[in-house]
Amino acid sequence: MLGKLKIRCIYNENGCKEILTLDNLEYHQKSCRFDKPICDQCFGLRSVDHNCVKYLLESQQKLIESNKELQKELNSTKDRISSLEKEIESYLQTIQELTIANEDKVEPILRTFFHTF
Ligand SMILES: [Zn+2]
Ligand SMILES: [Zn+2]
Repeated sequence: MLGKLKIRCIYNENGCKEILTLDNLEYHQKSCRFDKPICDQCFGLRSVDHNCVKYLLESQQKLIESNKELQKELNSTKDRISSLEKEIESYLQTIQELTIANEDKVEPILRTFFHTF
């Protein structure tokens, strides 16, 4: 009698639609393909109304958005680097000019720094 009662699979919240008699339930649940919360086809989180295509489309939309953000960030980082490069170049230029202009004063300083003379 009790064996004929229809019961939902415990993985119903993962999207399993099976409704079985108590007799078959245990057997089914052991091999139910919804036993894990992650979908084995799209790797999305399972739910009662999980839909691989919908999940993948949403994921792709999110990826496109985050890709745009990253591209913006990359461009501004590139700009920053190129302006820093210019700054360094101008510092080097200044150092070189100062070095040439003060060669006799610079040499002893370099000597104490590097101990190579
Ligand atoms: Zn199931
Ligand atoms: Zn899926």
